[in-house]
Amino acid sequence: MKSIEDAVRLRYLNIRSDRSRAILKIQHVLIGALREFLAARGFCQVLAPVVGPVTDPGIRGAGIAHFDFYGTSYTIMSSMILYKQMALGAFESVFSLSPNVRLEEASTVDTGRHLAEFYQLDLESARKSCQEMMDLGDGLVCHCIEAVRECSQELDILGRDLPSFSPPFKRIAHRTLEEELSIQGEIPFEKEHDLSRASSEPFWVYDYPVGSRGFYYIERDGTLKSMDLIMPEGFGEVVSGGEREYRYEQVKALLDREGVAHEYSWYLDMLKAGIPPSAGFGLGVERFTRYLCGLDHIWESSPFPKVPGIP
Ligand code: ASP
Ligand code: MG
Repeated sequence: MKSIEDAVRLRYLNIRSDRSRAILKIQHVLIGALREFLAARGFCQVLAPVVGPVTDPGIRGAGIAHFDFYGTSYTIMSSMILYKQMALGAFESVFSLSPNVRLEEASTVDTGRHLAEFYQLDLESARKSCQEMMDLGDGLVCHCIEAVRECSQELDILGRDLPSFSPPFKRIAHRTLEEELSIQGEIPFEKEHDLSRASSEPFWVYDYPVGSRGFYYIERDGTLKSMDLIMPEGFGEVVSGGEREYRYEQVKALLDREGVAHEYSWYLDMLKAGIPPSAGFGLGVERFTRYLCGLDHIWESSPFPKVPGIP
């Protein structure tokens, strides 16, 4: 912890190292590859909001940052979920590179994969299913790995030997893990780490228990249509996503039950006007950079790192 604190404080010095330059160069190539892959598949890039009256509450207990916006309490986006659904009013498929803030527990600094400020590739497609989004994710991840493989000098500096994968990645229903891991809802970070370490390939976990995740995932056949992509070698989750609950009545009932419907008034107005059913996911850019570069800790994959618990 102390060494991470020092490294972050001295970022203006260590950003000058060959190692840091190699990581940031790979990140630059990664961002180009993400855009190239999605643009070739008809996704339009939209500019992400940074602030708004509400944001994604489904962030595994992390805190949301609030500030005063002309006398009203506003939030800093924790993900772009609510707005990417709005953007489907303009385009069939959208994506954004979105800066997000999540006030993670200070202890998550030890997972090696949590930042308090990070960039998320947020994408969404109208009339698509979880299965189709997992297919897209398979292709996207492999495309980026191949693009980064071209950075041989940088990978050499980092001592990273990038594996090759042949999609589709394995898809594991959450319920099949429940007994094995004795879990009910979200997979605890340590158990996810063990699963990730035991695997030599990326794999999806899909169909989460009802009530375990954000209100915007649709419930069907007794499960939430949500999925995560877990990278191997202990790097853990890099993607979360799913199919959306897009019907006004259902969302209103869920938010009423939580007593927060009034906070989501613009969102509920939008749903009342009608939006298409959709599916999508968010990919943590620094997490994926960490995997591509083979880094012990995620702080190195951010040019200007903010890590949990260290102001
Ligand atoms: N909003 C989710 C997250 O940030 C991702 C998604 O469902 O698209 O984890
Ligand atoms: Mg997630």
